[in-house]
Amino acid sequence: MNERSGRVFLVGAGPGAPDLIALRGRDVLSRADVVIYDHLVNSELLKLAPSSAELIYAGKKSGAEKSFPQAELNRMLIEHAQKGRVVVRLKGGDPFIFGRGGEEAEALARAQVPFEVVPGVTSAIAAAAFAGIPLTHREHGSFVVFVTGHEDENKGARSAIPWDELAAAAQSRGTIVILMATARMRATLARLSRAGLSSETPAVAIESATTAAQKTVAATLATLADECARAGLKSPAVIVVGECAGLRERLRWVEQTALFGRAIVITRAQANTPQFAAELRHLGAEVFEFPTIETVPPKSYQRLDAAIARVGSFDWIVFTSATGVEAFTARLRSLGRDIRSIGQASIAAIGPATAERLANYGLQVAAIPGEYRAEAIIDAIGIKRIRGKRFLIPRAEVAREALPELLREAGAREVVIAPAYRTIKPKGVQVERMRELIASRGIDLVTFTSSSTVINFCKLIGAAAKGLKAAAIGPITAETARRKGFEVVVTPAEYTIAELISAIQEYFEREAVVAGGGS
Ligand code: SAH
Repeated sequence: MNERSGRVFLVGAGPGAPDLIALRGRDVLSRADVVIYDHLVNSELLKLAPSSAELIYAGKKSGAEKSFPQAELNRMLIEHAQKGRVVVRLKGGDPFIFGRGGEEAEALARAQVPFEVVPGVTSAIAAAAFAGIPLTHREHGSFVVFVTGHEDENKGARSAIPWDELAAAAQSRGTIVILMATARMRATLARLSRAGLSSETPAVAIESATTAAQKTVAATLATLADECARAGLKSPAVIVVGECAGLRERLRWVEQTALFGRAIVITRAQANTPQFAAELRHLGAEVFEFPTIETVPPKSYQRLDAAIARVGSFDWIVFTSATGVEAFTARLRSLGRDIRSIGQASIAAIGPATAERLANYGLQVAAIPGEYRAEAIIDAIGIKRIRGKRFLIPRAEVAREALPELLREAGAREVVIAPAYRTIKPKGVQVERMRELIASRGIDLVTFTSSSTVINFCKLIGAAAKGLKAAAIGPITAETARRKGFEVVVTPAEYTIAELISAIQEYFEREAVVAGGGS
């Protein structure tokens, strides 16, 4: 980046769920040199920044520890931009709704640092939406006010907030949304009550909206504080007061989604997860992507290159993973060869996902086993088509030996194993954060799509992984997970991501029935 390109983007991260950021925010993040983020920002979003970007945490979570003073933060923004960097100031919700975005923009304007603002979905709106509360309604609410429940202490008794007018407004079909609402909830609600707002006015508090930890307490102006105390409601929370809040009773929807309140970890390589994560989120789960494997080239391409040089001489090419398909075709391309150079070779795939990847290259499989085991491949190909034939298996550098051995036993004339890729433990995954998540909120399920994801997850997380509930894509993965101390509660009948997702859904539906006493 050169001097001229330095600028600051004040970006709204949205209320919590990482897919509630604006497309423009996502785009800006992907071009960031520096990201300065607040504690309410979902750290899943930080993965959208380039791995070279510097990530700076702007505040400690608990009030006891110090966060950066605002002046220092402003100075940091200015200095990084003046060094020519693209700085993303990532703020919870919308950057210009509370949270001091306005002050940061003023500082930048004073320093003549160019800046842009990318709005975000404010928690004021998202919390209401996820609680089933329309903030306006033709019959129940004609306007809406966002107000802080935590006014600057220094203002003392002379509040800048016209509580009397707000109470009157709410009484005549206005909606009040109170942010920073927990610390002084009782006093705030009492103030509205004293100002004449009916004690029967619907009032709803929503904690951690749009995440798996979302908790909603619906009551009235008179009873909400007690109900929240009983439910143990904590910050961050917003309160919605007014007739509109009463609509929740009929419009609550989020609790009805299949995976509401479930925190699920995905451990497979990041590149393979977008649909998996999106589908689980679509079903209402909060998803944490924690990639435990990364695919890299093998230590040496010698054997694969030698095999590719004579690839037309094989009778069969057997693919044991979708990654193997990608690695093999990529190497073919980089050697300047065409897919047609595989000639008459027949193709076998270990399972439907691998077959699907082959289909992307216009390759049809001649054999696909009914089960995800080496023995089943032998059956699928058939002894007659094995005897006297030449086999090529492009696969991971380290893999089980069962398949080549069985092929030789069945009379194959030649079996060439060619390492096409290697899986490693990725660097830079947020291990501490995952440990903290497991300890603090609990993770409902960890999903494993291969034994190496299990083994690496344990290596990264250590003892904290013990006893977690797990979903395993197939029997071998399940066995590894059990051996490592997981309670395997989900194993799909078919070893595909689609089946895994439905099995997860069924598991949690059963759980809910048990928890609900069978009702
Ligand atoms: N700019 C932010 C607000 C920052 S002030 C926005 O637009 O959302 C911090 C307050 O936001 C918290 O005290 C809480 O009232 C609210 N808040 C933020 N995230 C929330 C969430 N997921 N659920 C409920 N309230 C939230």
